[in-house]
Amino acid sequence: MSTKLGIIGGGQLARMLGMAALPLGIDCQSYDPDSKACAGKIAPIFQGSFDDSDALQEFAAQVDLLTYEFENVHLQTLAALDKSSPIYPQLASLEISQHRLREKKLFNHLEIRTNAFESVKNTTDLALAISNINLPLVIKSVSGGYDGKHQWVLKTQHDVDAWILHRQQENWRGQNPGWIAEGWINFQREVSMIGVRNVRGEMKFYDLCENVHRQGILSHTINKINDPLQADAEHYVAKLMQHLQHVGILTVEFFVCDGRLIANEMAPRVHNTGHWTIEAAHTSQFENHLRAIMNFPLGETASTTQSVIINCIGGHPDIKNILNYPNLHWHDYTKPARPGRKVAHMTYCDKNEISEVKIRELLKLQIFNV
Ligand code: AMP
Repeated sequence: MSTKLGIIGGGQLARMLGMAALPLGIDCQSYDPDSKACAGKIAPIFQGSFDDSDALQEFAAQVDLLTYEFENVHLQTLAALDKSSPIYPQLASLEISQHRLREKKLFNHLEIRTNAFESVKNTTDLALAISNINLPLVIKSVSGGYDGKHQWVLKTQHDVDAWILHRQQENWRGQNPGWIAEGWINFQREVSMIGVRNVRGEMKFYDLCENVHRQGILSHTINKINDPLQADAEHYVAKLMQHLQHVGILTVEFFVCDGRLIANEMAPRVHNTGHWTIEAAHTSQFENHLRAIMNFPLGETASTTQSVIINCIGGHPDIKNILNYPNLHWHDYTKPARPGRKVAHMTYCDKNEISEVKIRELLKLQIFNV
């Protein structure tokens, strides 16, 4: 009899998890407020809102185990589900990743380097942060932000005054549980490490991913075979996975500054910087996440080839141009396009190192409409 997996969230990550689940004999269902969410064709949608504990409980009762494809699920609602269907990754990892301050404190506790940061709840806190860290600062809401949303860069006293005025107009509340002020980093590059740990504690790591953002949105990612920071990044992610007794994929994003890693944030789920693993690693991140939470042996994570993922934002290119291009693989999430929305990606593979010139050529195929 096949295992039934419930995925909370019905977006493209759930869709790709569902595709990887088919050959393993796992049946997926996904839970999403939108009955037309794009995972639906692979993992039928159970419609319900993320804070509806009755609907979630009904969903959980229909499956053998649960996972989630995004972090902004209500923790209390998940914690209240009866424990008959285990949830992986466990809620300890989710709780940390939902709160930037908790996340950075844990990184420091485990001696994982971060930039300087301070909690900000009022004007006095902000003045203290400016005197301790200095301008420029990045202010981020401690929870709920992604793709650069809910973030402000304060470079000058004028920016600081404008930000305070805005907060005063909202009476320092709005929808917000607080902010973190971080030192601005002049990074040379941004990278992420995707690790995986199964129920019995076996761990594996993918090659480091190098990520290029435009306007706060991920534009493209390159798998870096033999990167000099591979061992350091693996060491950090291993520490986190062991400390949290994490089960499933765990991704940590880093800045690289003066040749060293500075941890920015973590995600306890399959990650958009890991889509290259479908075509360019022995086992994809999606299959390994499933193997981990089912407590199967993990699959080989080594890269089989060099690759670059190009994301399509806010529009679809002409599929004939993509399919005409040698060694380019197309993944349409079948989502209606609107500005800023990630609707597809393509992965180019090459046995030789992919040059900057080649990447620029590939980027001409990209739609980036934000
Ligand atoms: P985040 O939501 O923390 O991943 O931030 C989104 C993007 O904003 C990052 O990928 C960086 O490109 C940029 N960014 C965030 N924090 C900082 C920082 N402290 N210094 C410089 N750039 C940052």
